[in-house]
Amino acid sequence: MNILIIGVGGFIGSHLSDEIIYNHEDWRVIGIDITSSKVDHLLSKKKFKFIQADILKDFDLLEKQINECDIVFSLAAIASPLVYVQDPLKIFELDFEANLRIVRLAAKYDKRLIFPSTSEVYGMCSDEEFDEETSNFVTGPVCKQRWIYSCSKQMLDRVIYAYGIRDRLRYTLFRPFNWIGPRLDNIYNENSGSSRVVSQFLSNILHGGNINLVDGGKQSRCFTYISDAIEALIKIIENNDNCADKQIFNIGTPYNEITVKALANKIIEFSRKYEKIKNQVANIKIVNADSVEYYGQSYQDVFKRVPSIKKAQNILKWMPVVGIDELLIKTMDFYFK
Ligand code: NAD
Ligand code: UDP
Repeated sequence: MNILIIGVGGFIGSHLSDEIIYNHEDWRVIGIDITSSKVDHLLSKKKFKFIQADILKDFDLLEKQINECDIVFSLAAIASPLVYVQDPLKIFELDFEANLRIVRLAAKYDKRLIFPSTSEVYGMCSDEEFDEETSNFVTGPVCKQRWIYSCSKQMLDRVIYAYGIRDRLRYTLFRPFNWIGPRLDNIYNENSGSSRVVSQFLSNILHGGNINLVDGGKQSRCFTYISDAIEALIKIIENNDNCADKQIFNIGTPYNEITVKALANKIIEFSRKYEKIKNQVANIKIVNADSVEYYGQSYQDVFKRVPSIKKAQNILKWMPVVGIDELLIKTMDFYFK
């Protein structure tokens, strides 16, 4: 089976490729990305082919690769709140327009499409647990540009769903809830607010900066370790009895819910054991940051985001096993050991 992974050089793409190359003999990866830095270790593998290309420009190449593969993963996107507020059209052009082109090509060539939606589509939904079939999507006004990512993904979910009905597109949508692990982001980049929260805090510690708790850090997230997440994606690829066809799955770890403030404290506590950052940790300060000053006027936060994973449990027979302490330590080992 030839699996095309567009955005192969990213966090999820690189871990998915590792799992396929090392543990699934009959599967092959054709990876497309503008950079190969997170998959350089796979470049010499026979079952791995990397093509450097830009999905905003290299349309003929993209069409040829989609035509020739069996399954398409479309992982190329920007998923950084700072960019949602600073350059929303970039999100629209890449996350929506370029990905829509890929969806259409998958429908045209009758390929299975496995597509990342996001926990962000639920926005500020007040449900205790977000449910794929019943929860409402709650976003803010247009001036709160943060929601352009959520809306881009939501619209693609709806388009893919509609292609499933009209053109019988075989798709699976998965919604990651804050997946974390080695290679998450480049923590060597000192720009505040440029990374997802865990990598941002690790970067702050590495550079001896303050840890900023946006609006006090009372908001919570449920972090999922990348190996658990990849196991779910593998079950989706395997698709026993076509169980994943035309389904949407939350892929998250409800029992790993933690406030941002508690997360900061845990990361600082764990940081003390690494020689590389011991000195910086001793001086680190946790400070409150006003969201408007930190992200800008057009930011709005999600206060609580907990997935229901009943569907993934029942249909995919998937259950995450890595707890919050273990996933933080594994991630920190990668960066600091
Ligand atoms: P990532 O930023 O690590 O990877 C994205 C990859 O896309 C990068 O390697 C980047 O170089 C590539 N890319 C960007 N522009 C490109 C272009 N024009 N042409 C070709 N490649 C390009 O992101 P990730 O965490 O691996 O996320 C993958 C997908 O999953 C995204 O659609 C994201 O929105 C979604 N997602 C991820 C999470 C999470 O917890 N990691 C949460 C929700 C949704
Ligand atoms: N956050 C924070 N300090 C930071 C970076 C992020 O307090 O330096 C908060 C952010 O406001 C949000 C949460 O951490 O409430 C998670 O942020 P992330 O960027 O990982 O993305 P999200 O889960 O909101 O998509």
